[in-house]
Amino acid sequence: MTDTMTTEERCTTAIHASNLRVEADRTGSADVIIAMGMSRSRLGAPLLRLRSEWDGAGLLQPGQVTPHEFALLLGRLKTLPSVRYELGLQAARWGISADVVAAVLLWWLMPVCQVCHGRKYELEHGATSHRHCKHCKGTGQETLPHGEAGRKIEDHMTYCMGAFRDSVKKLSKNIHN
Ligand SMILES: [Zn+2]
Repeated sequence: MTDTMTTEERCTTAIHASNLRVEADRTGSADVIIAMGMSRSRLGAPLLRLRSEWDGAGLLQPGQVTPHEFALLLGRLKTLPSVRYELGLQAARWGISADVVAAVLLWWLMPVCQVCHGRKYELEHGATSHRHCKHCKGTGQETLPHGEAGRKIEDHMTYCMGAFRDSVKKLSKNIHN
C-alpha cells in the first residue's frame, strides 16, 4: 500500500499520525513518521497540519461569518499558536514584527477577496456583472499583506513545506529501495 502512495498522501498520513506505533502498524507509515522527525524543517509539518485543520473546519467564506465567529473558528485551530510562535521567531531574526506574521498567516489560510468572495466581478442586482471587482482588481484574491516583509514570510512558509515534503519523499525512497 505504501509503495503506491504519493508524497502528498505520505505527508497527510504523517501529519495525522497521533500514535507512532499504532499508526505504523496499521498503515505501514513508520518511514513517514521517521521522516517527520528527521525533517530539516521544523515548521513544514505543522504548517501542513494547520492547513488541514483549517480545511477540516468546513469553512465558510469571508463575509459569511462575523469577526467574532471568525475569531472563534481561529481558536479551534490547535496548531495555529505554535505555528505563529515558530514563524515569529524566524521573523524576529529578520527584524519583521509579529503583526506581519499574524496577517500573513490569516491571508494564507483565507486569501479569497473579502469583497467579491472570489467571484472576481461586481454584483449588479444580485447577479454577476461584467465589471471586475475593484477591491481585488478581478483576481478574486486579497493582496499578500505587508509588501516585501509579507513576501519574505510567505516564501519561508513555502520553503518549509517544500523541505518537509522533500525529506518525506527522500526517506521513503531510501526505505523502499
Ligand atoms: Zn474581489
